[in-house]
Amino acid sequence: MKLDRALGLLREVPDFPRPGVVFRDLTPVLANPDALRAVVDALQDKIHPDTQVVAAIESRGFLLGAALGYGWRYGVVPLRKPGKLPAVAHRVSYDLEYGTATLELPADSITPGQQVVVVDDVLATGGTAAAACQLVERAGGVVTGVSVALELTALAGRDRLPGRSVHSLLAV
Ligand code: AMP
Repeated sequence: MKLDRALGLLREVPDFPRPGVVFRDLTPVLANPDALRAVVDALQDKIHPDTQVVAAIESRGFLLGAALGYGWRYGVVPLRKPGKLPAVAHRVSYDLEYGTATLELPADSITPGQQVVVVDDVLATGGTAAAACQLVERAGGVVTGVSVALELTALAGRDRLPGRSVHSLLAV
């Protein structure tokens, strides 16, 4: 399936999870085997060839990250919300529009010098991806890039990722 048709399956849900937010729901894309393949292949096309590990952001990043890891032999490291990991190596908190959020890196996952791509479904304000990059670097990893399916340009997520190689399949 062509990528534009695959991404055409994205569902827009107004006022979720709160009024004023248009939620971009990747679920129908993932549920279609040809669309899933088109999206994962297109993400892989832009991943730096030196990459060894995918750092996948909870939770929809896990699905894309695991597919990439299996398909192209990357290790997959889940970056998780607090309280989920039994053994935590590093923790980064960052500001949201309202309040703060935290991401954690599992112990014994990324080793110094490893080349790591950060993967998620949507880049919005960029706070989550920036925290993910910080976590990788705290463990001594080298960020080869940030890859997402969808980028919400109005929220200027790239501005929070200066100097990073950021790839999105679709910018809206
Ligand atoms: P941000 O830190 O603002 O870039 O937000 C990115 C994270 O929040 C990603 O893990 C996305 O899954 C999720 N997210 C933020 N805004 C949206 C949106 N409008 N639709 C779907 N997911 C979103």
